[in-house]
Amino acid sequence: MGTEYWTHKYPCLCGKGHILEHVESPDNPWSKDRYSYELACAECSKIWIYRFGYLENRAAYETHKLWSERQFKVEKEIRSICSHAIDQILADKVFAVPN
Ligand SMILES: [Zn+2]
Repeated sequence: MGTEYWTHKYPCLCGKGHILEHVESPDNPWSKDRYSYELACAECSKIWIYRFGYLENRAAYETHKLWSERQFKVEKEIRSICSHAIDQILADKVFAVPN
């Protein structure tokens, strides 16, 4: 039999597109059905993005994503610089052979 998948199609609130509800139903008694949603509306998906169960403003999401990527890159650079500095301090002050 296997896992079953199906999709329900609901009208978007704007009346022009659709909201899709995807259902995944495993064929074992210990798993629950899993639901995911998709905003299938050309008009509304310009403004909104569906993430983690909520509609989020697309422009705010993309700005946040851009800043998060920049922050990650800067943090990575800082960690690299600090790691080299710590290695140098350890080499000079801790592991150096006394004269
Ligand atoms: Zn819509």
